[in-house]
Amino acid sequence: MSTLEIKDLHVSVATDDGAKEILKGVDLTIRAGETHAIMGPNGSGKSTLAYAIAGHPKYEVTSGEVTLDGEDVLAMTVDERARAGLFLAMQYPVEVPGVSTSNFLRAAATAVRGEAPKLRTWVKEVKGAMNDLDIDPDFAERNVNEGFSGGEKKRHEVLQLALLKPKIAVLDETDSGLDVDALRVVSEGVNRFRAGGDTGVLLITHYTRILQHITPDVVHVFAGGRIVESGGPELADELEKTGYVRFAGSAADSA
Ligand code: ADP
Ligand code: MG
Ligand code: MG
Repeated sequence: MSTLEIKDLHVSVATDDGAKEILKGVDLTIRAGETHAIMGPNGSGKSTLAYAIAGHPKYEVTSGEVTLDGEDVLAMTVDERARAGLFLAMQYPVEVPGVSTSNFLRAAATAVRGEAPKLRTWVKEVKGAMNDLDIDPDFAERNVNEGFSGGEKKRHEVLQLALLKPKIAVLDETDSGLDVDALRVVSEGVNRFRAGGDTGVLLITHYTRILQHITPDVVHVFAGGRIVESGGPELADELEKTGYVRFAGSAADSA
């Protein structure tokens, strides 16, 4: 059973006017079997948290800790983080020109598993997972994210979840740009992934819409670069009604 532990995380981003502190002391523990939702207004630092966990070079951790089962994640390279069982789906996934989705997935699985998956079982695995996500078989031969629609990008992420089986998955705005049908398919994919019970999910979202399909165990409100309130799923219902106004004060306090 895995645990991702974030302690008093402070992160700065390099801007033209010098380093700007975005995360101002984030504390969060996600255990296998748990789904946590982080909700917050635009610009509150949600994606910065995802990037910092992923090890994006633009985001500098100035203090605090991130550990996975006690191992120092911040000391790991991006590849090592993936091998350790972390999966990060970014709000704006990058295109990988010249690399087919099928080759990309196999290379990713090889990196994470430490050996290349046997071709015959692998092809079956991929076909099954694509079928579960209503993905057209031709999709496998297209270049990664090149010309993918919003829905295709998100399906591709959940396809990776299904095949790579990480210990902890961080999903940043997986619901953005999805129509109702795509949202259902993607949510079902995330639910299948977490049904095993031995994985943890951090679901970052601006809207409560996806939480009607994926019920979180814990909801955190993010404002001004930190978590300002945590509660059960009912906190998301409250946010749906009242918006983030109530938390504007907490954000200002931390500025
Ligand atoms: P959210 O995902 O909650 O909308 P972000 O983490 O994307 O918030 O952004 C938080 C703040 O950090 C914003 O004010 C944004 O402008 C700033 N920021 C994030 N990334 C960068 C960057 N690469 N360069 C400059 N500013 C950034
Ligand atoms: Mg602090
Ligand atoms: Mg964001």
